[in-house]
Amino acid sequence: MARPRFRLPAALLAALAASGSSAAGAAGAQPVAILAYHHIGVAPHGTARPLLWVRPALLRRQLAALDRAGYAAVTLQRAWRAWHGGEMLPTHAVVLSFDDGYSSQARIAGPALRAHRWPGVLNLQVARLGAPGGLTRAQVRRLIRAGWEIDAHSVTHPDLTRVSAQRLDAEVAGSRRAIRRSFGVPADFFAYPYGREDARVRAAVRRAGFLGATTIHAAFASPRTDPFALGRVLVPAGRSPAALLQMLRSGG
Ligand SMILES: [Zn+2]
Repeated sequence: MARPRFRLPAALLAALAASGSSAAGAAGAQPVAILAYHHIGVAPHGTARPLLWVRPALLRRQLAALDRAGYAAVTLQRAWRAWHGGEMLPTHAVVLSFDDGYSSQARIAGPALRAHRWPGVLNLQVARLGAPGGLTRAQVRRLIRAGWEIDAHSVTHPDLTRVSAQRLDAEVAGSRRAIRRSFGVPADFFAYPYGREDARVRAAVRRAGFLGATTIHAAFASPRTDPFALGRVLVPAGRSPAALLQMLRSGG
């Protein structure tokens, strides 16, 4: 997995600054930071990826800092609609995405976001549903009732650049079908497992009817870039609320 990079490239910053200063109407097409979280909890001793564990108290402090600074969380669907002529976004919109489908995301992130009346985006790995440590269907339904968007993150979480054509479609189209059937939601967006994608994978995602897909390239998502390579910013363990805000301000 790529290490999260904190600074945005200078060229991107220039592009973002230019987009912010353009004429009226641009607010609907503003770039949006999609933050990516994984486990919410204390990393077990010896875990392979301690960076992917954000402690519950820190998540709550990050959300409080975002709220105080005037940020409002929206779903990716809502950002997408604003980018395409729909209702405008709040001035400081941010998407809070949670990958894979861990039970802590319902137990801890769910109530933490609800305290701010914010929706989250769950990128669900379908095979994790009901598995040990994974979300139950009832938990996913509760998140949906709380306004969360459920997007697809494959069935078994392989590196999609290395699977056969048949398996690629089963993982991509299959995960969308399963979510739509189980929960009656559109699942219009896909998140690439490990952020791994190439032209073939992107084509499969497009074929499956998704509107767009998210990577883990550390960049703000923008309607001006490939919708099948929308950037996201990983929030690693220990990221202070101040550093999170600084990162958002540097890009927006
Ligand atoms: Zn994942």
